[in-house]
Amino acid sequence: MRRCLRCDEEMIEDLDVKVEGKAYGLKVTQEGIFKDSLGKLKCAVCLKCGYTETYVKNLSKIRSLMINKNN
Ligand SMILES: [Zn+2]
Repeated sequence: MRRCLRCDEEMIEDLDVKVEGKAYGLKVTQEGIFKDSLGKLKCAVCLKCGYTETYVKNLSKIRSLMINKNN
């Protein structure tokens, strides 16, 4: 469960971030590598103040980047 950084309220999570007018979502990529998605951006919204934060739900690809970096 995610709590709002501003007012400590419980947030609604697992919402999608879209480009307005389009159905595309946003993804996280590594600089220079545009075709490889490291994870889809999800967002959570605080119902009290409207604060919105984005996060990556599936961290396996990003974690594997760190493992490759440390080798
Ligand atoms: Zn809030």
